[in-house]
Amino acid sequence: MGLSFVLRTALLSSLMEMKSQPVRASRPSAGALLSMIRDGTAVTRARLARETGLARSTVAQRVDALLAQGLVHEAGGGASTGGRPATVLAFNHEAGVVLVADLGASHARVAVSDLLGTPLAERASDLDIALGPEKVLEWVSEHFGEMLEEIGRPSDDVRAIGIGVPGPVEYDSGRPVNPPIMPGWDDFPIPEWFATRYSAAVLVDNDVNIMARGEHWMHWRDTRHLLLIKVGTGIGCGIVADGHIHRGARGAAGDIGHIQVTRSEDVVCRCGNIGCLEAVAGGQALAERLATAGEATSRSRDVVRLVREGHAGAIRMVRDAGRTLGEVLAGTVNFFNPEVIVIGGDVAEAHEHLLAGVREGIFRA
Ligand SMILES: [Zn+2]
Repeated sequence: MGLSFVLRTALLSSLMEMKSQPVRASRPSAGALLSMIRDGTAVTRARLARETGLARSTVAQRVDALLAQGLVHEAGGGASTGGRPATVLAFNHEAGVVLVADLGASHARVAVSDLLGTPLAERASDLDIALGPEKVLEWVSEHFGEMLEEIGRPSDDVRAIGIGVPGPVEYDSGRPVNPPIMPGWDDFPIPEWFATRYSAAVLVDNDVNIMARGEHWMHWRDTRHLLLIKVGTGIGCGIVADGHIHRGARGAAGDIGHIQVTRSEDVVCRCGNIGCLEAVAGGQALAERLATAGEATSRSRDVVRLVREGHAGAIRMVRDAGRTLGEVLAGTVNFFNPEVIVIGGDVAEAHEHLLAGVREGIFRA
């Protein structure tokens, strides 16, 4: 059926890779040349002209601008087909740094990377997103500052900032849109908040979209159609359609966590509806059900810990959750026809049991 399953947990490096595409927003043409130089598609001026269809003089001008910014350097002579050898251009990944923050419901990770997405400093901490934008972003900004100091880079070196949040985002403005678990964040201007501190492009997106894009970029670049399912506190889906993130009309595409999977009245979702996938199979739901049975579980990570310890009830619960998820995924497979489905998020760390259930569910449906 042209479908393969892969299981991966979220990699911060994926997030950084996704966010390390400099100057795209402000100088699209030079930025396009830069990404061709960076991925090796075209590394001489002549080849850049051929690949882009731009006039040689225009290419020369854009390359001069990249050289002046230090984003590219001349790496000496290259292969020649007669005449004098063309100068090879190389991407300078040390020309700046990228700041990233991965904000979850109750946990945050922040990092500084070079322009190829290699982490230079990182840290993680419990942080409640419900504290609101001012407190959370202040925490993020403080840690950005500390990490820059630690690696000895001034804030002028910051080329871009990438922020992932656990809710839908209007991508163009970088503002959250009615995010259900982020009180106080609706329509908050995150890019403007950072603009007073750094003169760098700020990209904000839903965490699942970022995971999907990171997975696609890092491991599946030749794949056109991919779904990334995040099973953490809740359940979400990032969609790569024809190589691009599909966001939908208001940034809420892929909200599979609120597809109804049972009519059982006692399964009430945090969204107010009855029987949502997330309320049956999400990490928070599993933790609460185990807690009712007397276990010390308050969040999805506690469920994973029990599974690792071999707790039979937790294992059965994760497997059942996988099966329910698989039944929903069977519908998305028919609808979207993906080449690859990647499953991530912290519950996915209990992978063999979750995946066994997903396989059962998807092939049974
Ligand atoms: Zn719901």
